[in-house]
Amino acid sequence: MKTAKQIRSEFVDFFKGKNHEIVPSSPIVPIGDETLLFANAGMNQFKDIFLGLAPAQHRRVADSQKCLRVSGKHNDLEEVGKDTYHHTFFEMLGNWSFDDYFKAESIEWAWELLTKVWGIDPDRLWATVFAGDAADGLPKDDEAANLWPKVTPLPAERVLACSKKDNFWEMGEIGPCGPCSEIHIDLGPEMCDMKNVPNHECRVNGGCARYIELWNLVFIQFNRQPGGKLVPLSARYVDTGAGLERIVAVMQKKASNYDTDLFMPIIERTGRITGHKYTSKLGNKTDNAFRVIADHIRALVFAITDGATPSNEGRGYVIRRILRRASRFGRELGMHEPFIYKLVPVVVDCLGEAFGEIGERADYVSTVIESEEASFGRTLDRGIEIFAGAAERAQKSKDKVISGEDAFQLYDTFGFPLDLTQLMAQERSLKVDTAKFSELMEQQRQRARAAQKDVWLSGVSNINFSASAELTVNKNLPETEDLHKYHTDQCDAAIAGLIDGDGFKDKGQIDTGAQVGIVLDKTCFYAEAGGQVGDCGIIQSAKARFIVEKTVKIANCIVHQGKVAEGAFDIGEKVHAVVSKDRNSVKRNHTATHLLQWALQEVLGKSVAQQGSYVGPDYLRFDLTYPKAPTAEQLGQVEELVREKIAADLPVTWTIMPKDQARKLGAMALFGEKYGDEVRVVALGAEDKNGINEAFSREFCGGTHVDRLGVIGGFKIIKEESIAAGVRRITALTGSALTSHLEKGSDIADELSAMLKVPSESLVERVGQLLKDNKKLAKELKAAARHSGTDSMAEARGLLAKSEKTGEASIVIGQLSTTTVEQAREAVDMLKKKAKSAAIVLGFDDDGRATLLAGVTDDLVAKGLKAGDIVKEIAPIVDGGGGGRPQMAQAGGKNPKKIGDALTRAGEIIKQKLGG
Ligand code: ATP
Ligand code: MG
Repeated sequence: MKTAKQIRSEFVDFFKGKNHEIVPSSPIVPIGDETLLFANAGMNQFKDIFLGLAPAQHRRVADSQKCLRVSGKHNDLEEVGKDTYHHTFFEMLGNWSFDDYFKAESIEWAWELLTKVWGIDPDRLWATVFAGDAADGLPKDDEAANLWPKVTPLPAERVLACSKKDNFWEMGEIGPCGPCSEIHIDLGPEMCDMKNVPNHECRVNGGCARYIELWNLVFIQFNRQPGGKLVPLSARYVDTGAGLERIVAVMQKKASNYDTDLFMPIIERTGRITGHKYTSKLGNKTDNAFRVIADHIRALVFAITDGATPSNEGRGYVIRRILRRASRFGRELGMHEPFIYKLVPVVVDCLGEAFGEIGERADYVSTVIESEEASFGRTLDRGIEIFAGAAERAQKSKDKVISGEDAFQLYDTFGFPLDLTQLMAQERSLKVDTAKFSELMEQQRQRARAAQKDVWLSGVSNINFSASAELTVNKNLPETEDLHKYHTDQCDAAIAGLIDGDGFKDKGQIDTGAQVGIVLDKTCFYAEAGGQVGDCGIIQSAKARFIVEKTVKIANCIVHQGKVAEGAFDIGEKVHAVVSKDRNSVKRNHTATHLLQWALQEVLGKSVAQQGSYVGPDYLRFDLTYPKAPTAEQLGQVEELVREKIAADLPVTWTIMPKDQARKLGAMALFGEKYGDEVRVVALGAEDKNGINEAFSREFCGGTHVDRLGVIGGFKIIKEESIAAGVRRITALTGSALTSHLEKGSDIADELSAMLKVPSESLVERVGQLLKDNKKLAKELKAAARHSGTDSMAEARGLLAKSEKTGEASIVIGQLSTTTVEQAREAVDMLKKKAKSAAIVLGFDDDGRATLLAGVTDDLVAKGLKAGDIVKEIAPIVDGGGGGRPQMAQAGGKNPKKIGDALTRAGEIIKQKLGG
């Protein structure tokens, strides 16, 4: 039996034999294409060729493309686990012709590979062709229909004509398109999963699992124009796609893709971890959980490896949804603790040879998955309970619908993606009120938006400079020559036009105060890219001055955003552009970022990868993938290495070279970044451009750099933190920013030295001692207070012991030594309890103030003796006043010397009242 690995290589070798160039899969997270969340077909990476925007490097190409179908036009998420042949992540084997061979060869070769190389029974194969479409004025694809029986032994009656829905491929509303021809396999009547559906008929494209599509051959021969008209293309293309998992299942004679060597190791590992057994049955809850988890972990490993991270929007939310679904299915296997991350190594075992990147990033991917599992795990069980309640309410409702409010609460409080709630609802034959849910989501979004700050310059704020808007704005933007940024910080240029809210204009005036983007024919300004901020500066003419606040790049046009501070400009006018001195600090920080990455790899290992960076004039920030916090010692080593290189004052050079040569030299590229064929490589430590071999660090980089490392002038890490699971962020300073940071620190130290009267070397020790003393004193103080408290109690008890009695009632009167009001109150309460029937009056000197407290038990209050009355009467004796309730009252006065008198008077009052 052939392994999946063999089958993949046989595909590649077959097309190599037909003179195809074998290319790597593009990343599953498309770079530079904001219109697509994830690669979902082999053709994605060749889109620009079909659109005529880029030349084809090779006329014939083949590969195995990583695909994810979980969003947009292609979404197979619902199918996963329920059938045996739809996955979220799968490999699409493909071959392409860019205006080279066409239908005959594509059909012949597909057949040859399937039946001759792979030995699939030809009698089980069927083909389909495009049946034509009246609305589009297109006839049947007779060309393909006639070719099948001609170039292959497939009889004409097994070539079916199918409608536009299945057999006409379009890239979008407009653009390249054409008929397809698909190859399906008949897996036998026993595979039908729709036997219970009335009137079901097993046939190609009939919806059941008996006939499965293996390979789709697309013949791109038309262009759909705006308005819908189709015109033939002068260049014609072939774009094919075959699902590896399906072919492997057929060849390994398995009834399900999950039973092949692409999935079984994952399923077995899941079984070992969970203690459950997989029985390969459809419709079985446990088996379904096994399949979903096996599918989802593959998707997660590939997507996270290629740069997607779980978050609350866009790509990140798709990843989060997949992970949360997998977690929920983990509950079906009795798993309440994170465990999905433990499957990462087995995915690497299965696919790491074909896709080396997943092995390289496995630790990082595990960390991300584990932390996401852990955080969802905290709310999942409770969420499942809440769901049960919601489901019960829905059962009782007329339409059996889970309310939008419940779904929203599950989303908002328990992190349940809507599709998870829907899936769980479906399991109980319930629906979800998605309209209400969306309404609540929208309300929340609006609240969030209101809280968000406004963007950029008001004058141009309605231009969205993100890539999606680029498509609409960049068409008529001129190209700016900007290589000057590497050599100079000022240049002469002419104004080519301006960009404001209405788009690009190449005629007219730019008036005083205008907030616009100025486009020059050439510039020395660096546009924001690769983490380096765009330059600031000024653009001036004899009569006017424009302050550049930021420089950005749209397509190949450099836009200087800012404001006319003085005078007015004419478009076409000659100007002088000067970059702000800040650029020098930016250069220092950029080169230091390269040094930092190199040093981090030296200290923490080669698996450290750049996840993002910020290079500004003020500081630099570097995000790296690393599973745990580096130790202080490791960070110290990193700083030391960077400083050594700065001190050695080695040269910095850059060269433009072919991408392959750069890779051979080991130059570090940003993970997943799309580069042209020629790349700029910045080298640290080489004597000259030709001596690039001596460099100790080489990076693909378009940024601006210092000429010699010594210019950086110093380096210090000021912060190291975690910003996401498996991602650390380092913030560092160089040059003058570092000097002022150090100066500030030294000023503070000087001030403290003066204050504490010790030399600065002893500051730490001195402050440490002070803190220790402080702690000790606080402890002593507490003990002392407690002590004096006990004393007051003891004193009070003493007073009770020698108190007079009138009948059953004790009359407790006396003065306490130092105490607090709280303690005295406690003493009164204590006496009341102890004596059962008592009238108590206590006085004490509270730091120069006379304080008197009176307490009377309820039985005596009933006899007309009230604490408030007593206090009111005796307070004037100490020059004060007071009052309170019948049971408890308090007074204060200015004359503590008279406390004794007041107490004597109190005794008299009480005795009088009680008739003693
Ligand atoms: P289907 O109708 O089976 O969903 P499709 O028409 O969506 O297939 P294409 O877009 O033509 O498929 O993709 C080309 C090939 O990729 C298919 O012939 C099939 O072998 C494979 N394929 C498509 N979707 C999936 C999936 N979700 N999982 C595994 N393989 C797939
Ligand atoms: Mg499909």
